[in-house]
Amino acid sequence: MNAIFLRVALDTPLDTFFDYRWVSATEEANASNQPSIGQLVLVPFGRQEITGLIVDIVETTTVPVDKLRDVIAVRHVLPALNAEWLALIKFAADYYQRPLGEVALPALPKNLKVAKTVSLDRALKKLGRLSFPHDAAPQDEPALNAEQQAAVNAITHTREFSPYLLFGVTGSGKTEVYLQSAARILAESASGQILILVPEINLTPQFEARIRDRFPGLHLSTLHSGMAEGERLLHWLAAHQGQARIVLGTRLAMLASMPDLRLIIVDEEHDPSYKQQEGLRYSARDLAIWRAHQLRIPVVLGSATPSLESWHGAQSGRYRLLELHERAVKDAVLPVVKIINLEREKPSEGLTPRLIAAIRQRLEKGEQSLLFLNRRGYAPVLACDACGWISNCTRCTANLVLHKGDHRLRCHHCGLEQRIPRSCPTCGNIDLQPLGRGTQRLEETLASIFPEARVFRIDADSTRLKGSAAAAFERVHDGEVDILIGTQMVAKGHDFKRLTLVAALNPDAALFSQDYRASERLFAQLMQVSGRAGRTAQKEGGSISEVLVQTRYPDHPLYHALMAHNYQSFATDLLQERQQAQLPPFMYQALLRAEARELATAIEFLQQAASCTQHTGITINDPIPMTMTRVANVDRAQLLVESVSRPALQAFVKEWIVTLRAMKSRVKWLVEIDPVDI
Ligand code: ADP
Ligand code: ZN
Ligand code: ZN
Repeated sequence: MNAIFLRVALDTPLDTFFDYRWVSATEEANASNQPSIGQLVLVPFGRQEITGLIVDIVETTTVPVDKLRDVIAVRHVLPALNAEWLALIKFAADYYQRPLGEVALPALPKNLKVAKTVSLDRALKKLGRLSFPHDAAPQDEPALNAEQQAAVNAITHTREFSPYLLFGVTGSGKTEVYLQSAARILAESASGQILILVPEINLTPQFEARIRDRFPGLHLSTLHSGMAEGERLLHWLAAHQGQARIVLGTRLAMLASMPDLRLIIVDEEHDPSYKQQEGLRYSARDLAIWRAHQLRIPVVLGSATPSLESWHGAQSGRYRLLELHERAVKDAVLPVVKIINLEREKPSEGLTPRLIAAIRQRLEKGEQSLLFLNRRGYAPVLACDACGWISNCTRCTANLVLHKGDHRLRCHHCGLEQRIPRSCPTCGNIDLQPLGRGTQRLEETLASIFPEARVFRIDADSTRLKGSAAAAFERVHDGEVDILIGTQMVAKGHDFKRLTLVAALNPDAALFSQDYRASERLFAQLMQVSGRAGRTAQKEGGSISEVLVQTRYPDHPLYHALMAHNYQSFATDLLQERQQAQLPPFMYQALLRAEARELATAIEFLQQAASCTQHTGITINDPIPMTMTRVANVDRAQLLVESVSRPALQAFVKEWIVTLRAMKSRVKWLVEIDPVDI
């Protein structure tokens, strides 16, 4: 008998590998059924059978013979994940301080990890039957302008690691640069692959269509979390087997297996959705840079409003800056941004007379208006004037939001729902008032001011059903909507042809947020939502595209930069502030978060965690409750650890985690590297 041991990574919080015995099924061990590193295996674990990943094959093991168990099956039909992929996973696990198995296995489609291989076999058979055309010839490429051409030349000129920041306003032709760079690289080999990341794939069917039109002879895989499992497996396999030459996906696609990856593109690189907020809290953008470095290929970060990290990277020469100064379509101009001072022009129901007049003008010309209000629901809170009662969530440090249509008060954090009370729960007053306004209330107001207009709302509530978001956007594109009301959902990646007015109703809150990134985000959002207007050339007699911002702080530098379409000056100021305040990107951070029934317990744990360690070059701050302390009856606190040196912080956290584990506290905790929400 011929026994070897397979060292296997499993999806468990235990930071260790597991050894299993593998006995060759036949006497003459045949080379084709020998297991290899990077293959999946089915193994017994406790009373379950689970799927693991072979990370090593060894001849001896320290596991005692009576504890040692046999591998149930090796997935020979699936080509092994290659060494580069394993290295990527290992890097992510190390960097974000998680066990390798907790990174590797969740990165794979669910249907690969089930005991029965029916769906895998079926998918492989299906892909085997398809003939994959590898005709990389692009269709109908427009001639590039000089700046676009320079960008494409730069991106495609070497076969080395080269990170680029492609900076250009919405409509400046960044996508065209991606596509033509891809075309060149695809033409160079019969197997090269391109990975294109977008923040939210459900919102970008136009992007997908554009890629398909451009490369009708190539197979495109899409990867995002909204896909059915069967579908996801097919697309993942096509990428893994090299059949898909282009992969378009959300952040999770960054962990896809692509054997001959030659170019990575991260569109809207500043978007916070590139950061995963649960499980492995990775930044797909940062991993893209690492992966490109590993494979020695170009990577392009594209944005109209780059993240300060990337902007700083370009300023300091780590990334090469490629700029597109103008809109690509001839005569398409940038919208005029105007500020409406709310101190002077009093709004009624949130709308100033000037804004109402601007909407009316669009209606008369058959054009579209977009009103941006980043708050869903009818009103953020219901209140009693008589006694001061307000609708608090009993389980969170938050208000219950009024949803008038379905007669509910709803917590947007824990999901708690109540009927709207008929009278004040404390004093009995029946005259309860909704305070403030959300998208539903705005919809109601607009419908009453403009009864003849087709008013339409797009937010998380109106698009809850699967596929309904796509249908909603379809309506807008088809011109069946006159006034569109939306949250940040409408800001991303859409090309509304007849849109000539964009208004931000009340963006001020973000100016004074505790989160130091809030103004960076607000600027990006407003720039992006402004970019929806005036994308196509002004038609004869059409209105000038306008962006109206209602604010109480008309002199705020952020709004001035917005009026001047001047991201650079905004970013320069903000970077200076960050440097003075010693914040990222001039500082590296990690957060220890703790959750407990009682805030005191969480804080106490963090205090212990802070005192059990010391390190030169590392600043350990005081534990503090999170801004929203309580969510779903759990109190949350955090401890910020900082260093100007990324390697020093890494080394510190690695040791620290070992100590924290040894504390065996009952408090639930986790460490987050490069946190974005502090
Ligand atoms: P971005 O990605 O920066 O928003 P796009 O690449 O989508 O910009 O370009 C905006 C519009 O301009 C699209 O309709 C696109 O087809 C068009 N366009 C881009 N580059 C060119 C070009 N060189 N010639 C003609 N039209 C172009
Ligand atoms: Zn709640
Ligand atoms: Zn009351």
